[in-house]
Amino acid sequence: MRYSAYSIFKEALSGNRMWKPAWREPQPKPHYDVIIVGGGGHGLATAYYLAKEFGITNVAVLEKGYLGSGNVGRNTTIIRSNYLLEGNNPFYEFSLKLWEGLERDFNYNAMVSQRGILNLFHSDGQRDAHARKGNGMRIHGVDAELLDREQVRRKAPYLNFDHARFPIMGALYQKRAGTVRHDAVAWGYGRGADARGVDLIQHCEVTASAAKTGWWSASRRPGVLSAATSWRWRPPAIRRRSAGWPISNCRSRRMSCRPSFRKGSNPWSTT
Ligand SMILES: Cc1cc2nc3c(=O)[nH]c(=O)nc-3n(C[C@H](O)[C@H](O)[C@H](O)COP(=O)(O)OP(=O)(O)OC[C@H]3O[C@@H](n4cnc5c(N)ncnc54)[C@H](O)[C@@H]3O)c2cc1C
Repeated sequence: MRYSAYSIFKEALSGNRMWKPAWREPQPKPHYDVIIVGGGGHGLATAYYLAKEFGITNVAVLEKGYLGSGNVGRNTTIIRSNYLLEGNNPFYEFSLKLWEGLERDFNYNAMVSQRGILNLFHSDGQRDAHARKGNGMRIHGVDAELLDREQVRRKAPYLNFDHARFPIMGALYQKRAGTVRHDAVAWGYGRGADARGVDLIQHCEVTASAAKTGWWSASRRPGVLSAATSWRWRPPAIRRRSAGWPISNCRSRRMSCRPSFRKGSNPWSTT
């Protein structure tokens, strides 16, 4: 079911009894091409883009709780690309651009609101650091403005400009930065992945003993991707069973992520 103004109108007329769940509750299949451990932002985004960009849809996301019950459902809020370092800036700018079309892309309201971000400065030294960062951003084509005290006051008149312990001297402003609603990020990606055929399997914890249940003894070796933040290490049983397997562990990063391999290439060959 596609969400639209029309579908809201139609459902309202039927007393809102016809809404379908946002994703299926599938039974796990015996074989998958890719298994992703962890239904947080990274796991679900990876599943979504595998299906959307690369046509890899025989994918399962295994989540020990419900989708978005990890960090992403609590913490992911600010979206921005106001970074200083060479490697960071284009990376987060790419990510911010993904956000700008994302809700339309996965047909879900993640409440993306580009209301801008102000990073205040309170001393000459801080102003210089912010100016440097702003210049770094602009060199990479990212929007950045250095505001003086009066410009900040016009944007946020409710701040304490007169009696603050650290007086406000100005701010680095990124207009396109903003907020998203944390759990909707997970649910949007989940819904988009499910619509493309990905199996989202909730309340399915991957444990070391999972190896003994036969999950991993599929005749075709699937790619196994751990997007579970808590997987700081690979459980010994899985390590044993997975010798030579294309398993990779993704550490937690704040980004809207997308697999970076080229179309048609084997995503697992380099991991
Ligand atoms: C205080 C704080 C503030 C933050 N603020 C921002 C912000 O403003 N903007 C921003 O972009 N980022 C922010 N972040 C970072 C962002 O929230 C995280 O980078 C992001 O949520 C990580 O997503 P994830 O998918 O890696 O992890 P998670 O969302 O934690 O997902 C991991 C999933 O794996 C599951 N799992 C774990 N073990 C297993 C297992 N054995 N089997 C099956 N499933 C398993 C968990 O249940 C969980 O659902 C913040 C983080 C913190 C801590």
